[in-house]
Parts: sequence; structure tokens; C-alpha cells
Amino acid sequence: MTRDEIMRVIEEKNIHFFRLQFVDIFGFMKNVAIPRSQIEKALDGKMMFDGSSIDGFVRINESDMYLKPDYDTFVVLPWRNKEGRAAARVICDVYKSDGVTPFEGCPRVNLKRVLAEARELGFTMNVGTECEFFLFEYDEDGMPTTVCQDVAGYFSLDPEDKANDCRREIIEVLENMGFEIEASHHEVAEGQHEINFKYADALTCADNTITFKWVVKTIAARYGLHATFMPKPIYGINGSGMHTNQSLFNLDGTNAFFDEKDKLQLSKVAYQYIAGILKNARGFVGVTNPLVNSYKRLVPGYEAPVYAAWSASNRSAMVRIPAARGMSTRTEVRCPDPSTNPYLALAMMLNSGLDGVKNNIDPPPPVNKDIFEMTRAEMTDEGITVLPGSLEEAIVELKNNPIAKETLGPHIFEKYIEAKEKEWDEYRCAISEWELDNYLRVY
Ligand code: GLU
Ligand code: MG
Ligand code: MG
Repeated sequence: MTRDEIMRVIEEKNIHFFRLQFVDIFGFMKNVAIPRSQIEKALDGKMMFDGSSIDGFVRINESDMYLKPDYDTFVVLPWRNKEGRAAARVICDVYKSDGVTPFEGCPRVNLKRVLAEARELGFTMNVGTECEFFLFEYDEDGMPTTVCQDVAGYFSLDPEDKANDCRREIIEVLENMGFEIEASHHEVAEGQHEINFKYADALTCADNTITFKWVVKTIAARYGLHATFMPKPIYGINGSGMHTNQSLFNLDGTNAFFDEKDKLQLSKVAYQYIAGILKNARGFVGVTNPLVNSYKRLVPGYEAPVYAAWSASNRSAMVRIPAARGMSTRTEVRCPDPSTNPYLALAMMLNSGLDGVKNNIDPPPPVNKDIFEMTRAEMTDEGITVLPGSLEEAIVELKNNPIAKETLGPHIFEKYIEAKEKEWDEYRCAISEWELDNYLRVY
């Protein structure tokens, strides 16, 4: 979109409220809302905000930052159309106080840098994320619970499912905003849902993923439901993943993962990319699975991966190769969860895969048996490693991963690790319900 086109829509649709959006390093969406009179100034990238008020950004003395909108992300918000006064948003890159230097602590700026480096190597990245989420009830005080009304199962058509109406409206709103919805269904667990939208280039996919989460939460709240992307809200049932389908494309627009002549119809680049992902998995989960709670999902028995292995068929593997070939040839990385910052997660996975390509690494053989049935010795023989079991372990691995600092850049790398160590420490010191249940009476 051009500036003129945006201004035309603003006139036609009577846009009165304009939101400038960006994310902090944890992937939280931030908003600067401006009135109509300021829209042109905002479109010209002259809107300032106080960067020191954002976690992980900058110190007070360098706090004036600029928001530079990406015109292609302009969209009218279908649910904010009160008395003909509509609202729109645009996603922005954060720039330093000189107004011309992109801020290296902005995850979107950082992903663009990583994508430009990949392009130098001759590749672009396409990505499709599958974000699972739960819809829960609020209690009388308006606090979210983990109670869900529906008793429906996987692919349920139960007309009583109250959440169905909500999911349908979420889809309608997304379609109004230009999303191409491919599928939507009730997930395995009670109260759990998934809505799939079409893949796109990595930057657009990250933009779409944050927009998706925001829309889901916003519309759910209108139905009196709380939508959560927390990875494992309930013990004993499936958690929520964010399977990330990814492929490299050549600059001529062909799929770099497809090779008709290979046994699995995968190219050398595809095998090397898989090898890089598996090699660096222990290092990147600190980003793709960022919460204390993330590691309660990565346990046996709930369709979430625990081991770094790949397979063309097996769903227990961390990397699966979906059946589609040709332009749709891709790897599905199954460990990320939707609490991740998608800009950082895609950058980390891309550079992990490219590590395999640059260094000509071969993947271990695919694992076609159920990994959960294998002994530790069998796993070692097949080159299968175990993913970190806690945020603490994941952060140590992230710190020691040579690709992490380069991919996140020193600013994000340091701030991110500092915050995650603090998060772990707080958790470590907290007394949990489990401890009270198990120790209070007996000791
Ligand atoms: N909910 C599962 C997970 O935690 C994934 C289920 C599926 O295969 O879609 O990853
Ligand atoms: Mg799913
Ligand atoms: Mg999937």
C-alpha cells in the first residue's frame, strides 16, 4: 500500500482512531493510539514515544524513539466501528532518537536484518504458524479461570458448543482484515481451539501471528471468554503449541526444499536445514518456548515433542515433514509454543537451519518409530537429543549457543537473558500448590 492509498481509505472509511503497533522483546504488542489530526504525521514516521517505558528497550537518557509504519500492514479494525467512527492500525519499526537509525532492540527490525542476511545467501523464508489456544470462562470478579464450558472433542460439531460462535466470529473478523483462513477446528483438549491462516513470507507471518493473537483475545472477550496462549494451562491434558511450518525459497521463487529425484523428494538444502534445526534445538527453545510454563508442555504423552528428532511421518518427532511436495515442501517444527515472540522465534529457527546449510551438515537418519517407546541407549544410537526440561536449562543452552547472540543481536540477547533469569529465579523461590499438597501435611 502507498501513503496515498492509506489516506484515501482513511477518508472513505471515516477513520478517527489510529493505532501504531509494535512489539517489545517478549512479543507483547504495544499500542500508541493517535487521533485523526495526527495520522499524517504518524504515516511520515514522525511519531515519537518514550522507549524507556518499554521493558527491554532503552534507558531514560536515550528514550525518545520514533515509530516508522510499514504501510503494508495498514488495516481497518472491523470490530471498532462505533457510530461510523472507525479505527485502523499499522505495524511499525522502532527507530532511534536520530529518526534515521533502526533500533536494534526492536524485534521486527532485527528479523528484517536476519532475513536480509539470508537473502545474501540466496534464500527467502516462508512460514505458516499454527497457534493453538484455550477459551476459558471468567469468574464473577472478572478474573479468568481455567474452566471451559464445552465438552466437545476433536473436530466436534456439537451445536451446544458456545465457543463455536466465538470461533466463527474470530474467523469472520480475520477474513475482514485480509487473512486467508485455511482451517479451523476444536483441538484435542477440552476448551482448546486452532485456526490456521495461510503461510506468508517470514516477516508477514510474524506480523500476522501477533495480529492473530490480538484478534482472538479481543473477540473472545466480547463473548465473555478469556482466550489464552499460555502453553500448558491445565495439568494432565494437551497444552497449546505453535507448530511452525517453514521452508526456504530460492530468489527465483522456486522451493529450495523440493527435489523430485530424491527418495523423500527433499533437496540437499532441506536435509541440511533439518540438520541445523536439530543441532541447535537445545539452544533455540529458550526463545521458541520462553516461559517457565512452556516446559510443562514439553513432556511425554500430549503430542508435544520432548526429543530433537525428525521424521517424514511420525508426529512424536520434533521436526515433521508434511506430505505435500512441490511448492508446498516444508518442515513442520513442533516445539514452539504461542507464548513466543514470533519475530525472535523465526529469526532463531532460520539461522539454526542455515547453520546446517552453511556448514554442510547431514541430519541423523529419520526416526519412524515412536520415540517415547525407545530406550535412552537406542536414542543415543540414533543421534536423538533431549530438549531442555526447564526454563533454567534452556537459558543456559541459549547463552551457550553460538548462533543466538548473532541472531538476536547483543542488545536483545542481553536484555532477554537478564529478564528470563529473573523470571526463573522468581519461580524457583515461589512456593507452589504442588509443594503444599505434597509436603505440608507429611513433614
Ligand atoms: N497440542 C499439541 C501440542 O502441544 C499439538 C496437537 C497437534 O498435533 O495439533 O503441540
Ligand atoms: Mg494442532
Ligand atoms: Mg501441526
